[in-house]
Amino acid sequence: MRIKRLKLTGFKSFVEPTELHIEAGLTGVVGPNGCGKSNLLEALRWVMGENSPKSMRGGGMEDVIFAGTAQRPSRDFAEVTLLAEHDAHENIPGIIANDDDQELEVVRRIERGAGSAYRANGRDVRAKDIALIFADAATGAHSPALVSQGRIGSIISAKPQERRMMLEEAAGISGLHVRRKDAEQK
Ligand code: ATP
Ligand code: MG
Repeated sequence: MRIKRLKLTGFKSFVEPTELHIEAGLTGVVGPNGCGKSNLLEALRWVMGENSPKSMRGGGMEDVIFAGTAQRPSRDFAEVTLLAEHDAHENIPGIIANDDDQELEVVRRIERGAGSAYRANGRDVRAKDIALIFADAATGAHSPALVSQGRIGSIISAKPQERRMMLEEAAGISGLHVRRKDAEQK
């Protein structure tokens, strides 16, 4: 899976619709302190299913919605769209049906007082489906590929159980846990 585009609307400091094209190879995001670099990374993590307000540097999930400034009123929703190119072998049942349809568009939207919802290629899906898609692609909200400020220190001091979760994400096998939990509930 390769991420090609990220669109943000009303997400944290990105109040106006903002579109980012991510080319193949290395991408650098540079800018002065407070311009929104970390917010971009958080948008990426959020659309892939992050649900911990703490790792989004907020007190509650609605804190990702633009809170307003002295000059601008706050917004009622935040939306992040991720467009990715899929590898032909990575079929996703019910979402990517055949080998020709290789684009995956995931949209996550949160509205004040109404919680958040996901769509994948135009269909309403559950958070669990999103977790599976990205867990199988060895990416996702908790991917070790996303290293936030202060994270190195927390990896060093992590408990063995937490470190194991990181290794499983890196090995691309955390999708198995989601499936096992699902099977145990049935
Ligand atoms: P640094 O170089 O210091 O790491 P950065 O480029 O990573 O900075 P961010 O942390 O991404 O900057 O952006 C911080 C800015 O985002 C702050 O100005 C903060 O007020 C703003 N911000 C965060 N959440 C919201 C929100 N919900 N509504 C409006 N603005 C927000
Ligand atoms: Mg930062």
